[in-house]
Amino acid sequence: MITSELKQRDITQNFINGAWVTPSTEETAPVFDSNTGSVIGSSPLSAEADVDAAVSAAKLAQKEWRTLSPSARADYLRAIARELEARHEELSQLIMREVGANQEISRGSQTLTPIASFNIAADILESYNFVENIGDNLVMREPIGVVGAITAWNFPLHLVTVKAAFAIAAGNTIVIKPSEVAPLTAAVLAEAVQSAKLPNGVINIVFGSGPDVGEAIVTHPDVAMLTFTGSTKAGMRIGALAAQKVAKVALELGGKSPLVILPDAPLQEAVEFGVGDLLLNNGQRCDGLTRMIVPKSLLPEVERIARETMDAVLVGPSTESTSEVGPLVSKTQQDRVLGYIDKGISEGAKLVTGGTDPIETAEQNSQGYFVRPTVFSEVTNDMAIGREEIFGPVLSIQSYSNVDQAVEIANGTEYGLHAAVFGSDIDAALSIAARLEAGMVTVNGGESDIRAPFGGYKHSGIGREFGRYGFEEFLEIKAVRVPKNFRN
Ligand code: NDP
Repeated sequence: MITSELKQRDITQNFINGAWVTPSTEETAPVFDSNTGSVIGSSPLSAEADVDAAVSAAKLAQKEWRTLSPSARADYLRAIARELEARHEELSQLIMREVGANQEISRGSQTLTPIASFNIAADILESYNFVENIGDNLVMREPIGVVGAITAWNFPLHLVTVKAAFAIAAGNTIVIKPSEVAPLTAAVLAEAVQSAKLPNGVINIVFGSGPDVGEAIVTHPDVAMLTFTGSTKAGMRIGALAAQKVAKVALELGGKSPLVILPDAPLQEAVEFGVGDLLLNNGQRCDGLTRMIVPKSLLPEVERIARETMDAVLVGPSTESTSEVGPLVSKTQQDRVLGYIDKGISEGAKLVTGGTDPIETAEQNSQGYFVRPTVFSEVTNDMAIGREEIFGPVLSIQSYSNVDQAVEIANGTEYGLHAAVFGSDIDAALSIAARLEAGMVTVNGGESDIRAPFGGYKHSGIGREFGRYGFEEFLEIKAVRVPKNFRN
């Protein structure tokens, strides 16, 4: 339950079995305004007993929830979407502060995609064919049971709702642990769920830390599936723990996504596209195009365009409408990104623009977690900034001599979430797209779509979210062998 108005938001309870329940511990974690560094709220640091209560509620609720007709479940999903819509501005304001996302994205994908997730999951549910005939087999899709969801802070509402909407649409119930860094919108979701009169126990939210609440969810014997968004390191840990009880896992992890600019690409447009993509959500995106791979002969021109584009970006508080890039989520994240910029310089990459100096605009509050949008060139895959996920507004430009080398550099990463190609000859661009090892490839600026699959190859994850693919992730498959003469 949230106990006060926008400025100070203290979540004091967990949302379990349709009600606000006092946690078994008194510890709390602060929530900071990324623009100012001041405390704007808190959330409980719950414990295993709270997870037990939530899982019990979810297990009980699942018995009836799974038997509801698709249209009855879909009606609830649409009701939640309407309740979120009614809270759209409140959610946007929270995300601006918690995450530092600018106004456009806070009012856009950060909050509109969650509403769309519930509506699209409802559409899919109503049109989905749960039974298929193969010979004597009736192949049935069934809910898995209780799903445990653990999420990151960068799209705090979206990451929670993309899991909740599709999991419950499929007939499962869910226990969610949002990020303790950005927990506030999850409490608003709980209020929306209550207002939508979703049956008790279908969506449960337990606030707390990864090692405590997160691991208690992962290892709970009654949690049949884990769906996780976060770092590859935590994903590996969760996968290893889940393997001990042979539970299904869906993992959406990190990225180091390349944009290959082909020699015939419209250079200004391609570089501006890459910089724009990188800066979305202040660079705090798993699928951001953080590496720009360009022909060696065009490198000086690419550096010039990238520098001019970056330098024209307005950095400032996310609460101001003119700001295009806001602060990072936390002091930890600011230090981490500044550390990578230092590392880039010390490893010999060429600093094209940006760096570790503080932002100089007069209205900046020095306590905000700002980082200068930064461009490095002459980056190689063996440098930390070419290899590791930075999760901030830092672009690495790499160069190639021929397209085979471009593909090799692009694929020379442990990640495989997103990649992009820009080129005038569409057949050539598509043939490069086919060679890139990534779950999503953007060609010449194509748009993502919540009905299309989202997820990665290699260390970027297992499974897919969004649309029918995300929905099916939350279904078990049963083959019932019935001779045809026994069928109606
Ligand atoms: P973390 O992996 O640190 O945390 C993610 C979530 O996992 C948090 O809720 C965290 O809890 C929890 N957690 C951490 N350790 C454990 C554990 N041992 N057991 C159970 N739960 C645990 O990631 P960040 O929150 O820092 O988010 C940034 C990362 O997320 C980046 O690497 C980014 O690439 C990735 N990401 C991937 C996306 C994708 O779709 N592929 C989308 C968005 C982000 P706590 O609250 O204590 O931190």
